Order: sequence, then structure tokens, then C-alpha cells
Amino acid sequence: MSERSDAEIRALALESLLIERGLVDPAKVDDIIERYNNRVGPMNGARVVARAWTDPDFKARLLNDGTAAIAEFNFEGGQVDKLVVVENTPQVHNVIVCTLCSCYPWAMLGLPPRWYKDPAYRSRVVREPRRILAQFDVHLPSTTAVRVWDSSAEIRYMVLPQMPARLLGESEATLAQHISRDAMIGVALI
Ligand code: FE
Repeated sequence: MSERSDAEIRALALESLLIERGLVDPAKVDDIIERYNNRVGPMNGARVVARAWTDPDFKARLLNDGTAAIAEFNFEGGQVDKLVVVENTPQVHNVIVCTLCSCYPWAMLGLPPRWYKDPAYRSRVVREPRRILAQFDVHLPSTTAVRVWDSSAEIRYMVLPQMPARLLGESEATLAQHISRDAMIGVALI
């Protein structure tokens, strides 16, 4: 049997209890997990970033009002009541976290990675973002400021990564394939 963390054991116990009492349908739980893992995934976010890289008007709309701009895509899935998109530039690098729990733009990025929910990431990225970024192998020049955004149930953040010069002129579809989930959280570069 694989080793499970305390949180996993608690989640399993809670799920069994809810099923036993007839409060949740296990098929529905599986469907939600399947939906966010495979059907939503980080590709929605990647499509949005690729469009922003190729369409300056869309990019302006996205940075001005993320929620309204992504409505143009008709994505399924919730958790984006208010989406704020923050742009990485040579001057500013943005990172997202939820210090309280694990708020995350599900409809854009699918299910959050395990480390996003880790108390160590949640507390340390705020206090020593450069050290945490270094652990993800992101090394920024000292002239680049690091800004950490704390997500909540009301506001979810997503990072608009910088487009590397080598991708200039690529199609929106090709660009989307280069955009990783971690880059949209701010813990990777492209
Ligand atoms: Fe949260």
C-alpha cells in the first residue's frame, strides 16, 4: 500500500463518510476530478495566453478585466468568478499562491498541483519568493522585482508569462503548446 499524507487520509475518510450517509454520489466526485484533470487541464489558460501574445487588443482586454475577456472563450468549469491576469515583464515577475488554503483558477489551469496546497509553499513563497523560485529552477536578475499575489475565494490570479523571442511569428495554436501550467502560476519561465 502506498503511503498517504495526513490530508489524503482525512479527505478519504470524509469522502467515505459522505458517501455512506448518501450525501455525495461517488460517480459525481469522479466526474469532477476527471473533468478538471483531463478536459479542462491547463490548456484553457494556455489558449488564453497564446491569444494575448498574438492579439494586442485581446491582451489589453485581458489585463483590464480578465473575467470579461475569458468569457469570449466559453470555457466550462467554475472558480473564476473574478479572474485577474498579471503580466510578467523584464521589470516584474509575478507568482501566485493561496496562503489561506488552495484557491486556484480551476477553469483556466485544471486541478492545482500538489505543491500548490503544501503549507511550505504557501508560507515561504510570500517570505522568500526568490528562494522558492530558485527551487523551481527560476533564477531572475536582481533588477526584476518579484510580486506575489494571494488568491482567495473571490479573486483568482493567473500569470501572463513573457513570450520568448524565439517564438515570435508562431501561430496561436503552436504557441499554446509551449505554455506550461507552472509558467501561468509564475514558478516557471517559457
Ligand atoms: Fe484558498
